[in-house]
Amino acid sequence: MVRLKRETIVAQIGNKKCEKTGAVNMPIYLSTAYRHEDIGRSTGFDYTRTGNPTRDALQEALAVLEDGYQAFATSSGMSAIQLVFEKFQTGDHIISIQDIYGGSFRLFQQMEAKYQIAFSYWDGNVIDDLTELIRPESKALFIETPSNPLMRELNLAELAQFAKEHRLLFIVDNTFYTPVFQRPLAQGADIVIHSATKYLGGHNDVLAGAVIVKDPSLAAFYEETLNAIGCVLAPFDCWLLIRGLKTLYLRMKQHQENAQAVAAFLEGHPLVQQVLYPGKGGMISFYIQDERLVSPLLRTLKLFTFAESLGGVESLITYPATQTHADIPKKVRDSYGLTNQLVRLSVGIEAKQDLINDLSQGFSKVEAEVGIG
Ligand SMILES: *Cc1c(COP(=O)(O)O)cnc(C)c1O
Repeated sequence: MVRLKRETIVAQIGNKKCEKTGAVNMPIYLSTAYRHEDIGRSTGFDYTRTGNPTRDALQEALAVLEDGYQAFATSSGMSAIQLVFEKFQTGDHIISIQDIYGGSFRLFQQMEAKYQIAFSYWDGNVIDDLTELIRPESKALFIETPSNPLMRELNLAELAQFAKEHRLLFIVDNTFYTPVFQRPLAQGADIVIHSATKYLGGHNDVLAGAVIVKDPSLAAFYEETLNAIGCVLAPFDCWLLIRGLKTLYLRMKQHQENAQAVAAFLEGHPLVQQVLYPGKGGMISFYIQDERLVSPLLRTLKLFTFAESLGGVESLITYPATQTHADIPKKVRDSYGLTNQLVRLSVGIEAKQDLINDLSQGFSKVEAEVGIG
């Protein structure tokens, strides 16, 4: 049979899973325990932490979407990262990039303090600088691309080659682009993680994470570890995520179309100093002319909600300095461009002209109010 396209696979997640009832929509199996016929005989399900049919349907789809061998649905994006890092121990060294999600940076700081796992941060520019960070105890390279919130794309194939040469596990947080725009495993990464709270879920209504791996022995390690730890995604949340995934391709298309239009509008606006948009996806960052404009702008926008997340159908505006990246010291932030003038948009799927009109009226009001421009 011809391999089905991903659009088809997501639309059909959970269909034909229940022989008995013919349910088209994936049933939510809340049962935590599963009856055994006899000693050593089971339906394949014993206890919900170890395995759950609703979670299985989701995980199967996630693995296919990301070109992986196996996927794991976790209770949050952060627990997905925590699970991945169970592979490492005291004395290990990890290389990451500077421009990453603030929560990841915070977790790494904690691992450094509590477990003496060392971290080095690369600025994402020259690969020779990355080579200099390598130590005998280096175990992994952890990146986000596009970077967050500066939206710089890194070359996955080149980094995969580098990781291979230095025997590093190559871990990519694919939250921003999703498998619709980028499939890191196909380009040589070993592990993909997601905050599925964002685009995969897509509706600002479920906290979830995902880990997808390519190598069967790595998959076996994570299966065992996830069962041991128990940070699995609950059945109802699995169902919400399945529901969200069904429209992933439709949504991403609209997010991108809208973001391209909003980016073009911002490019031409006198109050905008610089637009950071890689041309793909739904996330845009920009530098506003003056830091004093930020707060009034946040207050005057009517459609863009000032909130700390991304990837949902509703457009959001985030101020990384005090929200997503508040745990990174100001001096460090400033040194790589995450300044107090930086604002981040998660462009939703509303009518793009309405979004542009909202920004336009917002800029006009703040210009009058603050008297800069
Ligand atoms: C939100 C986010 C996380 C953390 O995920 P949670 O679901 O909030 O735990 C990790 N990485 C990126 C890129 C994120 O945006």
